Amino acid sequence: MTDDEYAELAAQLDRLSAVPDDVLSEVVARDGLCLWAFDRSDFPEGETDRATAARMCAGCPVVDECLELDLRTAGENTVGVWGALPDTDRRALFPVWLRRRGGEAR
Ligand code: SF4
Repeated sequence: MTDDEYAELAAQLDRLSAVPDDVLSEVVARDGLCLWAFDRSDFPEGETDRATAARMCAGCPVVDECLELDLRTAGENTVGVWGALPDTDRRALFPVWLRRRGGEAR
């Protein structure tokens, strides 16, 4: 992803900035495709996280909520696939997102 894409994505999450953690968590647990529609272990071994994210999160109705929650809770220590992104992208997005929040996770 490019710097502009990270900036655009971080701006897209602004609409969720006032949503409490527990509400985000409830929405993602309830509606997240990977949390009720299928098992993450169904994906082929050896598939890259980027490919898994594209496949697993396609059509998920709570991608932004999932991404926002992961940025808040895991931040730069994030691992695996969340919010339709591999962890490398979320680690790069984290400081951009954090700056938009004034340096505070909440
Ligand atoms: S965005 Fe992806 S990782 Fe997050 S709940 Fe949806 S399917 Fe799962």
